[in-house]
Amino acid sequence: MGQIQLKQVTKSFGSTEVIPPLDLTIEDGEFTVFVGPSGCGKSTLLRLIAGLEDITTGHIEIDGQDATSVVPAKRGLAMVFQSYALYPHMSVRKNIAFPLRMAKLDQAAIDQKVEAAAAVLNLTDYLDRRPGQLSGGQRQRVAIGRAIVREPSAFLFDEPLSNLDAALRVGMRLEISELHERLKTTMVYVTHDQVEAMTMADKIVVLQAGVIEQVGTPLELYRTPRNIFVAGFIGSPK
Ligand code: ADP
Ligand code: MG
Repeated sequence: MGQIQLKQVTKSFGSTEVIPPLDLTIEDGEFTVFVGPSGCGKSTLLRLIAGLEDITTGHIEIDGQDATSVVPAKRGLAMVFQSYALYPHMSVRKNIAFPLRMAKLDQAAIDQKVEAAAAVLNLTDYLDRRPGQLSGGQRQRVAIGRAIVREPSAFLFDEPLSNLDAALRVGMRLEISELHERLKTTMVYVTHDQVEAMTMADKIVVLQAGVIEQVGTPLELYRTPRNIFVAGFIGSPK
């Protein structure tokens, strides 16, 4: 399960309201992309869902349960950052295993889950290397592996590919889409890249200054953009 609902959620930093009241339902299993220009509130929204920021007013429900004041570790969600946030002194195996060690699983269960994740991500041959001995794409896979072993009800990605060069980005885009096909777990993916949004999303949420301008499938946004902003941003004919 992995339905996420935002109900009249707002966020202010000091006296600045960056998210005016916002309602959104992300269905279980859906690949939802938040897209919009830099500073429009994509990361803030993702961090509110993750619980890394407190919402100012409103509610967040996960699978129908109020999660507004549930701590991040108990929300059952896994966040993947653009900076990878890997531990440089630990092997790939230990990096991926880290959340499982925190959860005090026994060693056999840890090994089994780490190896399964490594197989899915083509990292089997790299388990004994350190992050510094990996390419950018491999590092990003390790970060995803660390999320997979937690078996979250949803993955939250914040611009995970923005540190990769263009060619690698296309490959990783496909890998993440394939991972979604395989796991069928809810994914919420933040990007400022329209092409990423159009090629990866089941549903796109177009944001401008903290406001949802439109929610729809890539085809819906392309064919019937609700306004000039959406049309301009998505690159459709209107
Ligand atoms: P995006 O991810 O779409 O680029 P952000 O969610 O990072 O946008 O930021 C949205 C707005 O909130 C921006 O105006 C940003 O300056 C502001 N903001 C984000 N985090 C903080 C913070 N911790 N303190 C103050 N302002 C913040
Ligand atoms: Mg951001």
